[in-house]
Amino acid sequence: MNANSSRLAENYREIVERIAAAAKRAGRTPAEITLVAVTKYAHWSWVTGLLSLGGRFDLGEARPQQLVERAALVGPGHQVCWHLIGHLQRNKARKVLPVAGWIHSVDSLKLLADIDRLASEMNLRPRVLLEVNVSGEASKDGFSAAGLEANWEQVQNCTHLSVEGLMTMAPVEAAGDAARPTFAALRQLRDRLVTCSPVEVRLPQLSMGMTSDFEAAIEEGATFVRIGSALWDGLEVPGEPPT
Ligand SMILES: *Cc1c(COP(=O)(O)O)cnc(C)c1O
Repeated sequence: MNANSSRLAENYREIVERIAAAAKRAGRTPAEITLVAVTKYAHWSWVTGLLSLGGRFDLGEARPQQLVERAALVGPGHQVCWHLIGHLQRNKARKVLPVAGWIHSVDSLKLLADIDRLASEMNLRPRVLLEVNVSGEASKDGFSAAGLEANWEQVQNCTHLSVEGLMTMAPVEAAGDAARPTFAALRQLRDRLVTCSPVEVRLPQLSMGMTSDFEAAIEEGATFVRIGSALWDGLEVPGEPPT
């Protein structure tokens, strides 16, 4: 084992343990929470290092193009489910749909309708989450909570995809516990949408929590945590001297 692979194994084990501990504190089981390893900053050798730890992995990319390219690089012996976690331009959807197991970042009715139409045409049934800008920051993509409630009927008219839940990001300055109100608000919005729907809907998935705040997110009900930096911390880029 080289230095990178033992460091990576250690980082990974530590995150899995922290997820389990947070779940326990919240009276939940770790199996309810899926770690999405965010690979957007990761050197490809780090990603293959992760896969060689063995088992099935959920990997998240922020850019559609990189997701499609990297998905094609995964060897046949590996079980990977790809998650798109960043903004999807409408003209990239056709390429991404066959490759992504989950799309966390559906941030407008327009995009949702486009995905619905493409899914019908391509005979797919994509699993999507609706991205909500809970904190209302101008710099962020996503539905407003009020906008989503107001347009819920239109969401339900999209029948060729499966809306599985909601996704959010806490304000950048709100690390750790400070992110908790954002996560609680996403959960409460989900509960309201489920209750107010005239037909039965289930929105079991809540994608929330990153390196700086995933434990708070789990305590508030996250089912997907999207973790990058903590996983790759301390790894070296091959061929470059250590800094
Ligand atoms: C990059 C990114 C993450 C991971 O962030 P870290 O702080 O590196 O864990 C999670 N979610 C989204 C949407 C991202 O773009």
